[in-house]
Amino acid sequence: MILCYHSLDRSGSVISVAPETFRWQMQCLAVSGRRVVPLAQVSEIPGSVAITFDDGFRNFYQHALPILREHDFPATVFVVTGHCGGRNNWASQTPGVPEFDLMDWDEIREAAGNGVTIGAHSVTHPKLSAVPAEDARRELRASREEIETRLGQSADTFAYPYGDHNASVREMARASFRISCGTTLDFVTPARGLDDLARLDAYYLRNPAVFQKVAGGSGQGYILARRSLRNLRRWMVH
Ligand SMILES: [Zn+2]
Repeated sequence: MILCYHSLDRSGSVISVAPETFRWQMQCLAVSGRRVVPLAQVSEIPGSVAITFDDGFRNFYQHALPILREHDFPATVFVVTGHCGGRNNWASQTPGVPEFDLMDWDEIREAAGNGVTIGAHSVTHPKLSAVPAEDARRELRASREEIETRLGQSADTFAYPYGDHNASVREMARASFRISCGTTLDFVTPARGLDDLARLDAYYLRNPAVFQKVAGGSGQGYILARRSLRNLRRWMVH
């Protein structure tokens, strides 16, 4: 399974998990006995867990990185290359989502040197299915290129902004990246292609009992129930 976090802060917003909650969740994973693996391996190792963060918030650097280091857990952070060192104030941001600082390239470079894989999350965080195909292609390619130029290492993973894509966007993503992540609320299954890996958003795992169930490998029923609920509400906020 792939966990999807955004911001570690105490605002209680839909994109937020409190740092102390994250600390407890990582301890929970550590005692669960499940293998925490790099994103690139999660679909190949049954029962494994990958940890991902969208948007590249500075609070990842401040709060998540030290905790991940304590446990020696690998993680992937998907950065918005046109906003690094700025804030998550992209034009298409959902109203009501709080604004926070994003990591600058020095912080991203330091994270990359400490067990963190840096993936792309576009240049300007648009809904890729809603922009002209040429713009979408440029968002994908340019974000990958900038990460590779800045860090001097390959960036072959991607997360769709808002989890939004269609057949044409997925085709472009396959041309630029080995792995692309969506926000479909599900466990990783062999049936799902590498161009739309399912993730479990931390928003749905905030209840400690639920997180423990999912970390222990018995949360399938709960996730299915939440997924149908989400289909009704269309909470596409991140
Ligand atoms: Zn995002």
